[in-house]
Amino acid sequence: MLIGVLALQGDVAEHSAALAELNVGSLPVRRPEELPGIDGIVLPGGESTTVSMLLESSGLAEPLGKELASGLPAFGTCAGMILLSRAISDGRSDQRCYGAIDIVVRRNGYGGQLESFECDLQAVSLGASPVHAIFIRAPVVEQVGPEVEVLATIQSTPVICRPGSVLVAAFHPELTDDRRLHELFVSMIDGSVPGGLLRRVPEDETRKAAESVRRGRP
Ligand code: GLN
Repeated sequence: MLIGVLALQGDVAEHSAALAELNVGSLPVRRPEELPGIDGIVLPGGESTTVSMLLESSGLAEPLGKELASGLPAFGTCAGMILLSRAISDGRSDQRCYGAIDIVVRRNGYGGQLESFECDLQAVSLGASPVHAIFIRAPVVEQVGPEVEVLATIQSTPVICRPGSVLVAAFHPELTDDRRLHELFVSMIDGSVPGGLLRRVPEDETRKAAESVRRGRP
């Protein structure tokens, strides 16, 4: 398996290192020619407006969009989640989002750099121990579509979501030692969800979280 890491800006090395820890090879993706042959792609955190501009100037914007539309598995963290979203409620007019996941996000929705924070998430879907999550100028998920599975929330706001072969996190799993989310992404690609790693959130809980988000930010 070879996973591409969009390498235009942001936490590229950290994601590659996280995949290497799982013995999964990665390829930094900077040019359209590098897209064929990868089995999935990580869109790292960074600055979504900058990545958006670099996608255009590198010629990757359209080819990546085509790959995503044809089902290339993708894992977006923070700015990467913004790029994969359906809509950005306060995005710049020239900012790109791919609609690979039916969520609406608000950039810097938890506040700016000074409001960045860390917390332990009750992500029961990833096993018993909490996920330590680092939020840096993180986007808030304001709406989720009916197909989106919410894997973890903070005060009813989704922070890990997944529909099909797309996984997004509002925080930075590549900055901690916890490899469960990368492992989940890998298992989503090769179909081997290892026993105990992914315990689906009971449907009721997912529905409640999704409904409270649709009603507006808690
Ligand atoms: N606020 C940034 C953006 O809009 C995301 C921050 C991050 O990735 N840590 O892209």
